[in-house]
Amino acid sequence: MADPPPIRFPRVIGHRGAAGHAPENTLAGFRKAAALGAAWVEFDVALTGDDVPVLMHDETLKRTTDGAGKLAETPYRQVAALDAGAWFGAEFAGETVPGLVEAIELLAGLSLSAVVEIKPTAGRAHETGTIAARIVAEHWTNAQQAPVIASFETAALAAAREAAPAIPRGFGLRRMRRDWHEQAAALGCRSIHCNHRMLTARRARRFRDAGYRLLAYTVNDAKRALKLFDWGVDAVFSDYPERILAI
Ligand code: MG
Repeated sequence: MADPPPIRFPRVIGHRGAAGHAPENTLAGFRKAAALGAAWVEFDVALTGDDVPVLMHDETLKRTTDGAGKLAETPYRQVAALDAGAWFGAEFAGETVPGLVEAIELLAGLSLSAVVEIKPTAGRAHETGTIAARIVAEHWTNAQQAPVIASFETAALAAAREAAPAIPRGFGLRRMRRDWHEQAAALGCRSIHCNHRMLTARRARRFRDAGYRLLAYTVNDAKRALKLFDWGVDAVFSDYPERILAI
């Protein structure tokens, strides 16, 4: 079988949209990332109580909306009515928690590609991976560059592979683990997405020598980004993509 075409990662991927400038995981964040010149964004996907995939980082609604309680116990109808922007700044009042389909449609309009992070709430990794991967496969229309599905949860990656095998997968690593290579290979992952603080020149080389593309989060300092690129990191996730683009 021929190797799949290489993923053309840019140097910087807007973290949760452009989380330093606009409320995370909102459509306003995607517009901001595009306006700043980013070509890719990253965002988090989890399921509502009635299994609708939405863009949300936390298990609970408290930090990033005017709601309360657990996302996994709240039906979509209620989640969609929340304000997801005012907490960040008055000018963002009225932003909502986007559904995954709505998010993909806007990305196509902005010509942005994405790292879709499956961020399942407790015990829901398999369903979240399955539902999110199916929707990405069905709705992604941007022909320029296919997205990457990533997760720290191996069960979510396994489910994504089963549901949409052709979409490239990224293996999330919070800290070094001995079995990273075994796990990433077993899940057919093509990239490693790791905390930049766990990287050293030697570790970066080990990931690259094993054939993986290497992405590091969350890098808001241009000097740090330069060092990481020097070590062979392909791309960094940043709340302030313009700082990295200015290098
Ligand atoms: Mg994320």
